[in-house]
Amino acid sequence: MNAPSATLPRISEVHLRDADLEPGIRKWGIEILQKVDAAGTPSLFSKKGLYSSLMEWAMQDPNFKTQLFRFVDVLPTLNSSAEISRHLKEYLLDPRVNLSPALRVALKAAGGASWLFGAGIKAQVTGMARQFMLGNDEEEIIATLSKLSGQNIAFTVDILGEAVVSESEADDYGARYHHLLNLLARQADRWSRLSKSNATPRGPVPTLNISVKLSALYSQIHPADPETAIEVISSRLRPLLRRAKELNAFINLDMESYVLKDLTLELFKRIFSEPEFSEGPARGLAIQAYLRDSVCDLNDLIEWARNHGKITIRLIKGAYWDYEVVFAHQKNWREPVFVHKAETDANFEKLSALLLENLDSVDAAFGTHNVRSIAHVLACAEHLGINRRDFEFQMLYGMADPIKSALIEMDCRLREYCPVGELLPGMAYLVRRLLENTSNEGFLANKFGRDASAEELLRNPADLIDPREARSHSFTNSVLARSDATRDAPHPHRRGEAGCFAFTNEPPTDFTRAPEREELSAAIKKARENLGQRHPLIINNKAVTTSEWLPSLNPANQNEVIGYSAQAGIEESNAALAAARSAQQKWGRIPANERAEKLEYLGSLLHREKASLSALEILEAGKNWAEADADVAEAIDFCNFYAAVMRELGEPQTTQAVAGESNVQHWVARGTGIIIAPWNFPLAILTGMTSAAVVAGNAVIVKPSDQTPIIGARLIELFIEAGFPAGVVNLLTGPGSKVAAHLVSHPQIDFIAFTGSKEVGLKIWEAAGHTDAGQANLKKVVCEMGGKNCIIVDHDADMDEAVAGCIMSAFGYQGQKCSALSRLIVLEENYDKFIERLIASAASMRVGPAEVPGTIIGPVISRAAQERIMRIIKEGNAEATMAWQGSVPDDENACYVPPTIFTEVPEHSRLFREEIFGPVLAVTRAKNFEQAIELANSSEFALTAGCYSRTPSNIDRAKADMVCGNLYINRSITGAVVQRQPFGGYKMSGGGTKAGGREYLHNFLVPRVITENCLRRGFAPEV
Ligand SMILES: Cc1cc2nc3c(=O)[nH]c(=O)nc-3n(C[C@H](O)[C@H](O)[C@H](O)COP(=O)(O)OP(=O)(O)OC[C@H]3O[C@@H](n4cnc5c(N)ncnc54)[C@H](O)[C@@H]3O)c2cc1C
Repeated sequence: MNAPSATLPRISEVHLRDADLEPGIRKWGIEILQKVDAAGTPSLFSKKGLYSSLMEWAMQDPNFKTQLFRFVDVLPTLNSSAEISRHLKEYLLDPRVNLSPALRVALKAAGGASWLFGAGIKAQVTGMARQFMLGNDEEEIIATLSKLSGQNIAFTVDILGEAVVSESEADDYGARYHHLLNLLARQADRWSRLSKSNATPRGPVPTLNISVKLSALYSQIHPADPETAIEVISSRLRPLLRRAKELNAFINLDMESYVLKDLTLELFKRIFSEPEFSEGPARGLAIQAYLRDSVCDLNDLIEWARNHGKITIRLIKGAYWDYEVVFAHQKNWREPVFVHKAETDANFEKLSALLLENLDSVDAAFGTHNVRSIAHVLACAEHLGINRRDFEFQMLYGMADPIKSALIEMDCRLREYCPVGELLPGMAYLVRRLLENTSNEGFLANKFGRDASAEELLRNPADLIDPREARSHSFTNSVLARSDATRDAPHPHRRGEAGCFAFTNEPPTDFTRAPEREELSAAIKKARENLGQRHPLIINNKAVTTSEWLPSLNPANQNEVIGYSAQAGIEESNAALAAARSAQQKWGRIPANERAEKLEYLGSLLHREKASLSALEILEAGKNWAEADADVAEAIDFCNFYAAVMRELGEPQTTQAVAGESNVQHWVARGTGIIIAPWNFPLAILTGMTSAAVVAGNAVIVKPSDQTPIIGARLIELFIEAGFPAGVVNLLTGPGSKVAAHLVSHPQIDFIAFTGSKEVGLKIWEAAGHTDAGQANLKKVVCEMGGKNCIIVDHDADMDEAVAGCIMSAFGYQGQKCSALSRLIVLEENYDKFIERLIASAASMRVGPAEVPGTIIGPVISRAAQERIMRIIKEGNAEATMAWQGSVPDDENACYVPPTIFTEVPEHSRLFREEIFGPVLAVTRAKNFEQAIELANSSEFALTAGCYSRTPSNIDRAKADMVCGNLYINRSITGAVVQRQPFGGYKMSGGGTKAGGREYLHNFLVPRVITENCLRRGFAPEV
């Protein structure tokens, strides 16, 4: 599947220039605005009382807007007046909200009148929602559509509910569309007689028109595997298309967030190329003008339509602008959307012209409430001699009614987009509409909320674009345009100057892009061609072979040997220690900047090798595509981040400025250490611990896990390629109980960095505490161990998000992350419904070999791990109810463990207390939030925890009282990002160190303070 490749329009350059059109645009614009003014203010902006005040305050105070919309979002889940009143108060009495004193007093006093602020508010918000949605009552739907038809307005109906978390919900969504089509079909003849908007100079267009969101037809859409998504969605869409064809109905595919854009375009083209659907039903899809690549997509579709028959393009600006910007920012990707409203408006005009010029191939529908955009379409059509009934305008139900009336009066064709369904799934839609109506940049708020002048409203957007700004604007830390990603060169901007902190996170690979998918597929193939090699020890940058070699096996196929690792003994351990000690003398004296530069270079090599390292992780560790890619990205981050921190620490710091004396603190290396790493983040954790130690001037012996030695060996080869001198980083694969234990107890070891199980961690802690006679240093232990992590799901949690977040946290990488969710505490009120959806969602996960793109659950790391976890599951049956167990491929060569959910798990059971490190989730019920916190804290571990809640006071309570190193609110609890979420726990989870945090390097350094008397016979340099 490929996105259109060209960057410029391919069919016809738009030759209508703004200047030619301006007089026409002005003429049409003024005419519409005059009609609009004569009709009065639309209901949304004109209703008296609380309703219009809310919208007005929202436009004035962004904090009020945020809190109000959050309240609107949670409201449908609240079942009592007292709860509604509590939420309203907690949201709006937030000190950041600029409430009028009168309202503040009224809200505070509302305890005694909770019916007013409870049930009354719910009725108000339901009324507000009803302005934009038709509800769920079939008679009401028919009545509203009949009314629209009577007003000469055509319709397209959409069923609310975008987020499906399971395949059963996706089936249900498909079935509801079927039902809807049948329901509407009964009235179709009557409506077509009533409404003129479906009549065009070229004959009638279908009266029945439905809009479908593809994300609601498949719960497992995975960026790395669009093919399966296309297959599954198509299978649910085909019956609908057949029925639509029988009923002469029109099917439109809505456009959703950018991650689904290429998938939607490709699916549309494929399914309507199938012989069965090539002639019908009538079809169309939406193009979002706020997307930078929309011009290419539109050209591509026009070209496709030339060869495959007419389609309708609904041109809209796009409803997910805020989301796209935030999402891209979090991923460190360039925003796919324009960042200036005027750019979107100008692009809308450009695409409008393109559509009108190609009406021979496509039917055009312009979805906008902006009078300037509408006037531009009319002027453009006039200029091209196009009858204005040859295209249609589309607007949203409940929005801009006076503009609709004006267009009908001007004999334009108009269609309303009418969402139907329950209030709860409609909240996302309602919030989008509220955002749109209160957006300071939006046309409607400017026209009806601020009463902007016709001059202002009809301004040419092209005049508002500063070309320099438009080209350069993006978030400051967006490092790579997805299409600009290059692998061959270090990132120059990552290089920091002394004393200047310069760090940006490595962006994850965007697997929605075909070239990225192809690159990783090719890398897996190539990795497979090189399997089975021997990987010697590396001491003093030289290969050292051993008599024994341990095979490392693919967890998805125990017959496949990834490679053989040399097995060191005591002799090799001592040789590695001697090499490290001798190298450290010189390395520790090299300026910090030079060490940092080498580490940055290593980061660039890891970046270069991103695909090949991911491929190796997929095969050796059983990580799925996204998890493997994230692990490599984190390793790159560690290199760049610790380099930046070391540059900072390398600068001597004056401790206190005092005349006549200089007091300066320097950081110096601890000496020689051993790095003992786990297999679950085989590259990231190994790189993190090693890079922090060596950039600080230490020399190390690296002992990767026995399960992932080949990835470890590859990393050390890259250290050497990056120019680290002989002896600074030494590779010692072999039995941990022998070589690591020997070195941990060795008097010449100055520090130990360990990540792994509690059992081994405690042994190391103890052994390191023993001091031999003549030992030079007290041993420093950096120790990160496990967790028994917990999420609380509150009574008012957003269920869609909580289900998805819990599934990802519990089962991502088969639950083999120290941060993984293993205890889920659900408030009683929500328990049954939540568990039902959780299990349905878990049952929808794809299980299989990690190398298959789109796999969520792969094998566990080894046969031993598989047997251990299966035993725990078996024993768990005696302690709790096994509510669900998934199925796994029937492959005896693979180490699969079926994902399992236990419910009603008692607090004192092993399932609730002991770390399992596998895809097993223990669920417990809590009577109230207090009990939930108590249960959460009843663990010997304190690593990660989470809470899904929309009650501000409960969120505050979680922040204050949940015992853990990393707390996540309303999101999944895994996937810490370097610098953003420094990671690590306390109690039996570790020593409180934070990997990926600024202070982490202190673990590998010793501070020295030098005081110098600067006075010479009463003369002192200036302070
Ligand atoms: C019939 C119909 C169907 C629709 N179907 C879809 C659909 O399938 N998918 C979808 O995403 N939306 C859909 N929409 C919603 C549509 O995207 C919004 O209603 C539309 O963007 C509002 O634009 P406007 O021209 O009415 O208002 P205006 O006020 O002129 O434009 C607002 C729009 O400008 C853009 N914008 C705002 N700020 C910025 C900024 N700083 N930089 C760049 N751009 C900015 C955003 O797209 C915002 O929505 C549909 C709308 C209609 C009428």
